[in-house]
This record gives sequence, structure tokens and C-alpha cells, in this order.
Amino acid sequence: MAENPPSPGSRTKSQMEENGGNASREEEIDSLMPTGMVFNIQRASTEDGPGIRTTVFFKGCWLRCTWCHNPEGIEARPQVQWLETLCIDCHACIATCPHRALTAGPAGIFIDRHLCDGCGDCAAACPTGAMEQLGRLWTVADLVEEMARDAVYFDISGGGVTASGGEPALQAEFLSAVFRLCRQRGIATALDTCGQAPPENYALLLPHTDLVLFDIKLIDPERHRRHTGRDNRLILDNLESIATTKRQGWPGKIWIRTPIIPGATDGENNIVGIGRFLTARIGDDVQRWELCAFNNLCRDKYRRLGLKWPYENVKLNSGAR
Ligand code: SF4
Ligand code: SF4
Repeated sequence: MAENPPSPGSRTKSQMEENGGNASREEEIDSLMPTGMVFNIQRASTEDGPGIRTTVFFKGCWLRCTWCHNPEGIEARPQVQWLETLCIDCHACIATCPHRALTAGPAGIFIDRHLCDGCGDCAAACPTGAMEQLGRLWTVADLVEEMARDAVYFDISGGGVTASGGEPALQAEFLSAVFRLCRQRGIATALDTCGQAPPENYALLLPHTDLVLFDIKLIDPERHRRHTGRDNRLILDNLESIATTKRQGWPGKIWIRTPIIPGATDGENNIVGIGRFLTARIGDDVQRWELCAFNNLCRDKYRRLGLKWPYENVKLNSGAR
């Protein structure tokens, strides 16, 4: 099994002391909190739980799903991407890069991903936003403040905040602090997880979570390994453990989600197998099971990251089956 990705970073007491020890009490508390690596915040989402939601996308995931719709969420570290339509060919990015990772060619700015360490200097130098950094560190207080801006939408719609990714449960210490503060402000919380994270991370998160959106993609362990890089043992164990926690009094809800991916997860045996597992092992603890149609909206994300997407030419699900 791969190592847990390195913590995106946290400021320490010694760092505070370097600042001369002049921080206010609030600054002191904030500086001791963990930080989280986030690559996107999407407002007005209606697909990540009930009501109108603000979805926070965390960087880093242990799975390598061949169809992944958020390839910029897989790597735990920051990355950069080049947006052709915004570029004015000034080459400020090339001049700035400390690792000589950028070159100009007929197709535009080329990023040598072997040389780039994601430092973001090029994005900072770019006058138009054509060079964009994917992933930045947030403090707990700043992220909660950002979420609270949408509180009126949550109130009128029964919505809230959803943590997605990547795999948000891999940043459990940070996220549990965010969720705890959200709920103190009356903001409902949802965790959208692939299930591939240490069990203790879910134990940390559940007390501050109102809804778990739990992915089960494939029930056969070998097919799961073939399409995601890992078997599904930890995932199914984590789901059973969350259901047990519910039986023991955790008041949150569990929704299951299965992406319907042509040639991978859409077989009848797979869907029936997942249904049987849920009936036998999880039962009434699941409130809802969503089958999520394949889409190809992520195609350009792969191109911008210099990656090939195996589903580039795959047709969308037809309604015939
Ligand atoms: S992120 Fe840093 S290393 Fe990567 S291309 Fe930009 S300046 Fe160079
Ligand atoms: S700095 Fe920005 S606008 Fe200038 S060449 Fe680089 S990406 Fe294009």
C-alpha cells in the first residue's frame, strides 16, 4: 500500500516564536491549526448532497481510477496548468521559472512536468491568469470564513458544505476542524469520500459530519484493482465501520454513490453485486443509493495537465439500458 501523502503542511509553535511571539491569542490558535491543500471551491452545487452546496475539492488521492473526473485532485502537491485562451505570449512565466520547466513552442507554453515542482512562481508572474496554480494551502479559519459567505443559500435550500476531491478524508485533521467550526455556525457538512483512507480518519471526521457520500465503484476486488489501482477491501471495511457507528448512535446519514462508467462499472453483475452487498452488510443504514451517469466534462482538464484520458472518445451513457 502507498504511504499516506505527506501532510500539506502546518505551522508550528516554533514558527510562531520566529515571528517574535507577538501574535494575538486568535492568531496564536490559528497558527497552531493544521492547513489543508485545496484545488477548487465550487459554489451553487446541486449534486453533492441536499440543497445548494459549496463544494471544497481537496488535493491528493490514493486511488487511480482510470475514468477520474478530477485529475487535478490526484496529486497531493500543487501543480500548474496553462490556459491557452488567456495567454498573450509575454513569456513572463518562462523568465520566472527557477527550474527552466517552461518553453514556448508552436502549440503554446509547454510545461515539463519532470522539472516542474509546482512552486507557482510562473502563475504569480503571469499578468493574465493564463498560468494557473492548482492547489493552495488554506487555514481552517480562512476556509470556514469562505464557506460562511454562502450561509444564506444553505439556509433557504437546506444545503451546506461538501468536502470532495481528490480524497478529503486524507486531510482529516484539517477537515474535522473545518467541519466542527462550520457546524458551530449552523452550516451542515457532507463528506464525499472514495473510502480509501485510514479508518481512524473517518473516526475523526464523523462526529462533525452530517452526511457521508460514499463511493462504491466495483464490488469485485480484482476488477476494482484493475480500474482503480487498489482492491476494495479497505473501502468496504470503512463503509461497514461507518454503518456500525451509525447503529451506535451517530445521527448522520449515509448515501452511496456508484459512477456508471462504460466498460468498467456499468455491468449488470457489478450493480447487482453492490446491491447485494448493501442489503446484506449495510441494510437500512443507507438512506439512498445514487447511480451517477458517466460524463466527459473533464476532457480538457486532462489536456491541460498533459495527460491522456482513456475515455476521451467514449460515448455518454444512452438511456437504452
Ligand atoms: S510551478 Fe514553478 S517550477 Fe513549475 S513551471 Fe511554474 S515556476 Fe516553473
Ligand atoms: S506569463 Fe501568462 S500570458 Fe505570459 S506567456 Fe506565460 S502564460 Fe502566457
